[in-house]
Amino acid sequence: MTPKIGIVWFRQDLRLHDNEALTEALQHCDKIIPVYVFEERIFQGKTRQFGFPKTGKFRAKFLLESVEDLRRSLRTKGSELVVRFGKPVEELFKIAKQFKTSWVFCNRERTQEELDVQDELEHRLWSIGQEVRYSRGKLLYYTSDLPFPITQVPEVFTHFRKEVERAVQVRQPLSVPTTLPAFDLDLDIGILPTLEELGHEPYEADERAALAFKGGETAGLERLHNYLWSSDAAKSYFDTRNELLGADYSTKFSAWLAQGCLSPKKIYHELKAFEHQRGENKSTYWIFFELLWRDFYRLMAKKHGNKLFLRGGLRGEIDPKQRNDHKLLQVWIDGRTGVPFIDANMRELKHTGFMSNRGRQNVASFLVNDLRVNWQMGAEYFESQLIDYDTASNWGNWNYVAGVGNDPREDRYFNTLNQARQYDPQGDYVRHWLPELQTIAGPQVHRPDALAKDELSNAIYWPMPTQNQW
Ligand SMILES: Cc1cc2nc3c(=O)[nH]c(=O)nc-3n(C[C@H](O)[C@H](O)[C@H](O)COP(=O)(O)OP(=O)(O)OC[C@H]3O[C@@H](n4cnc5c(N)ncnc54)[C@H](O)[C@@H]3O)c2cc1C
Repeated sequence: MTPKIGIVWFRQDLRLHDNEALTEALQHCDKIIPVYVFEERIFQGKTRQFGFPKTGKFRAKFLLESVEDLRRSLRTKGSELVVRFGKPVEELFKIAKQFKTSWVFCNRERTQEELDVQDELEHRLWSIGQEVRYSRGKLLYYTSDLPFPITQVPEVFTHFRKEVERAVQVRQPLSVPTTLPAFDLDLDIGILPTLEELGHEPYEADERAALAFKGGETAGLERLHNYLWSSDAAKSYFDTRNELLGADYSTKFSAWLAQGCLSPKKIYHELKAFEHQRGENKSTYWIFFELLWRDFYRLMAKKHGNKLFLRGGLRGEIDPKQRNDHKLLQVWIDGRTGVPFIDANMRELKHTGFMSNRGRQNVASFLVNDLRVNWQMGAEYFESQLIDYDTASNWGNWNYVAGVGNDPREDRYFNTLNQARQYDPQGDYVRHWLPELQTIAGPQVHRPDALAKDELSNAIYWPMPTQNQW
């Protein structure tokens, strides 16, 4: 009998643990061809409306490291990772045709651009009698386990959380296959591109960064282990999660989750093991609570489709006061608004690709409510720049802050000065990212405009504008 061959198309599931597509391929095929395609759409394309590079240098590097790590892991199991650059439909089709494979296995994506890619591939494969077999693996919960159909997912997070917590168990993650079928096909495995070939200059990581994010399942699992078991930081997450400086005030799992280097189910069950051994408290629960937000936004994206990206958002209400102001947008991007707390956060993002959740809420609110710039511009900049960009989480959170999402609270305005005083009481965070303000001691750094000339101690800073100047 001719052996059955299947392609495993790795997308945002760059891991061997809890990988449903890989597990299913192994159940149905005698041989597998693992493939990753560096999509030109992702690495050379631009964001939809405002033309930012679709994938900035921080995420590009993280992705490269993740694919490299996946290739290493597959090799240790006796297999290989074939890499290509271009369009998945063409690259995968060529391999499928040449080796007369039976199926392409992949984890299904839910947002439009990714759907277009997988639909196109599916149609092309039908022409040669082959199919795409879809699996899941992005979320804590399987949609089939939920107590409501997708069309009835509660619009309010608290309702969603209460219902799923009451009714659904998080399934165990699938295990890592012990061995994989030997890769003995006459197929060019391809060389990994360099960062330069993906369109970015090589760069040195900024020493001020909260964490040296390294892509890949290996580094992701290491972070999970360190955060839970070595640092014990999970025990105090509830109290530290709004801090701004350092590696352990929050989990920093987001970048690994976004590329699927870590499975949320794996995190959940590791957290349960931690609670079992070292005790559960509000903090350990709260990490799970935050992971639920991730599921919620993904389900909202599935329920509402492309509304998520439209100016009127999920509500369909456009705020006429917001403009497409490229000049103000650039001032915000560069961290030169004149409001130190905003500027420090924006510089962190610019220099590292990361920003805390507290920071993200503040800078987003500032762009929309103070600068009155179209929120989609901010969302696209984040899409380009974030190391942990995740379509549903990014656009869902922007909808929420811009007041066009399904938030029952009408006013999402953040008073920046109050926030700065509450979350950066001594001004340490601002001084960390704004070298021009380093000589100003204490909380005064949040109001350089209120200082007399001699108190500014040679600090050069532009006058802080009053709100109606914007
Ligand atoms: C305007 C805006 C844009 C955002 N864009 C993204 C994005 O592109 N990708 C992304 O992963 N998160 C995004 N977030 C959510 C959140 O800011 C990040 O998940 C978090 O800061 C990542 O740091 P962490 O892993 O240390 O989070 P922790 O505080 O340690 O939380 C644990 C995990 O829970 C999830 N989580 C926490 N908060 C949220 C949230 N509000 N929404 C969805 N998931 C959450 C993340 O997967 C996170 O890794 C955005 C938030 C805002 C306000």
